[in-house]
Amino acid sequence: MKKNTNCKYIFVTGGVLSGVGKGITAASMGAILKAKGFKVTMQKCDPYLNVDAGLLNPIEHGECYVTHDGIETDLDLGHYERFLDFETSKYSITLSGSIYKELIERERAGGFHGKTVQLVPHFTDLVQEKIALASRDSDIHIVEIGGTVGDYEGLPFIEAIRLFANKVGRENCLYLSVVFVPWLNTSKELKTKPAQNALKDLRGFGIIPDVVCVRTEKPASRSICEKIAAFAGLNPDAVLNLPDIDSVYDVPLNVLRSGVLEILDKFVGSSKTPDMRKWEKFSKMRSTNWPEIVKVGLVAKYVGNEDTYICVTEALKAAAAHNHKNLDLIWINAEKLEESDPEAVGLLHSVDGVVVPGGFGSRGVEGKILAADYCLAHDVPYLGLCLGMQVACIAAARRGGVKDANSEEFGATAKNNVIYIMEDQKGKESTGASMRLGDYPAKLKHGTKTAKIYRDEVEECGEYVYGTEVLKNGDVKVIERHRHRYEVNQDFLPTIEKGGLVVSGYSPDGKLVEFVEAPKLKFFQATQAHPEFKSRPLHVHPLFMEFIKSLK
Ligand code: GLN
Repeated sequence: MKKNTNCKYIFVTGGVLSGVGKGITAASMGAILKAKGFKVTMQKCDPYLNVDAGLLNPIEHGECYVTHDGIETDLDLGHYERFLDFETSKYSITLSGSIYKELIERERAGGFHGKTVQLVPHFTDLVQEKIALASRDSDIHIVEIGGTVGDYEGLPFIEAIRLFANKVGRENCLYLSVVFVPWLNTSKELKTKPAQNALKDLRGFGIIPDVVCVRTEKPASRSICEKIAAFAGLNPDAVLNLPDIDSVYDVPLNVLRSGVLEILDKFVGSSKTPDMRKWEKFSKMRSTNWPEIVKVGLVAKYVGNEDTYICVTEALKAAAAHNHKNLDLIWINAEKLEESDPEAVGLLHSVDGVVVPGGFGSRGVEGKILAADYCLAHDVPYLGLCLGMQVACIAAARRGGVKDANSEEFGATAKNNVIYIMEDQKGKESTGASMRLGDYPAKLKHGTKTAKIYRDEVEECGEYVYGTEVLKNGDVKVIERHRHRYEVNQDFLPTIEKGGLVVSGYSPDGKLVEFVEAPKLKFFQATQAHPEFKSRPLHVHPLFMEFIKSLK
C-alpha cells in the first residue's frame, strides 16, 4: 500500500440509527478544514453488495449522482461536492459489492496463488488500499462508513479503518462517531442508553472515538454529553451536541459553534481561524425573507421525494438565495399532467418557470412534453435537464409539424423518433454502467444565449467550475456531466427549429446535440447534460442562476 505520509485521516461512523446526518456532519468538518486552508477530500465506504448505484431505485435510494469520471454513485457524494467544492471520483466511493467483485476476479485469475481468500486480511487490505488511493493528493481525507456500527455487512469496513491506523500512525487518524439520542415524550427526557451501547459496540471492535457528535432534535444540556462521556470513558470535551437545525448548509457553522474547532486544531496542528465568510453570507441570504417569491414548477415522476432530485432542488434553492428571492418549489406530477388532471394543469399554469429534470422510462413523459410545449407557447421560462431537453425537442418537433414525434425510449415503433438510441447503447437498456456517463465537452455556438450565460460566468468569476473556456472565435467550450442513452436525431433539426428551438451546443465532433435554446423566448435553455451535478451552494451553476433571474 502506497501511503500519503502527509495526510491526516478522519473516519466517521454512526451509531443507534442511520440517517441522522453523519454525512453532513462529516462534510461540514471538511468544509471547516477547507476554510482553514487544507486540501480536503472525502470518501464513502458503503456496505451494500451492489457494485455501483446505477441500478438502484431512485425512490428508495434517492438520486443517482454521477462523478466526473462517470461512476454512478450515492447522493452522499453530491453533498461532499457541495460542501467541499471538489470533484469526487471513482476513488470517492467504495462499495462492498465492488470490493468483492475485484477480489473474486483476482481470485479467478489466479492472483492469490492458491491462498484462502478471506474477509480479513484480503477484504480489509483492499479497502485500505482504496482509502490510500483516494487520499493520495490530500492534506486531510475524510472517510464516512455507511450504515451503523454493528451491522453485519459493515464490520469488515470498521476493521479496515481500525487497521489503517497501524499503517499511518494513530496520531494521524481521528475517529468520529455520530450517535443519535432520542427524546422520550412520555418521560420528557433524552435517553442516552442507545448511544452508550453504540459506543460500547465500537469499543468492542477496537475503536475508541476521539470525538462523539450527539445528534438530538432539540439542544441538549451539557450533562447529557457528560453522561455519555462518562459511560464511554471519554473526555467530556470530546462529546459535542449537534441539535437539528433548519438547513444543512448551517451545519458547518453549527459544528463550529459546538466546540469541535479545538479538537480539529490539535489534530491537524494548526490554529488558523477558518474563513467561513462565504458560508455566513450564504446562510444569511438563505434565511432572509426576501420580498420577491418565485414559483418554480418541477415536473417530475417521483413527486414529493426531494432526495430523488436533490441536486436539482439544491441548485434551485441556492440560485434563489443568491438572486435574493424566495423559492416556492411546486411539485407537478407528470403523470397527472398527462391525464389532464385539472389540479396539475392549474399548477402548471400558476408557476413562474418550469424545470423538467432527468428521468427514465415512458411513465409521465407525455406530461413532461406538455409542460415543455406550454412553456414554448407561452414564453414561460424553462430549464430542461437531460430528459428535460429531450422532451423539449419532442415538443418543438410536434409544434414544427411532426405530430407523432417521440423518443425511441417511449415508443420504439414510432417512425418519427426525434430522440433515438445511440448506436453503442443498443441492447444494454437494463445493464449497469453502460450509459454515456461522466464528463463530456461541448462547444457552445458564439451568438447563442447559452454561450453568453457561460461566457458571462467566466468573465465574472475568472472561470466557471471545472473547465469552461472561451475560444478565440467566440465559441465557448464547457464540460458537463452526463448520464443518458438516447440523443437527438439531427435529421429532425429543421422541424425542431420550426417549432422554436435551435441547437446552441454540440459535442466537439458535431455528432451529438448537447444544448438547445429558444432564441425568441425570455429563457428557454435545455441540455443533454446534468449541470445540477456541478452546482455548489457557494457557487451556483450559471444556468440555474440565469433561470431564477429570468423569473417574473
Ligand atoms: N432517459 C433518457 C436517456 O437515457 C434521459 C436520461 C436522463 O434524463 N438522465 O437518454
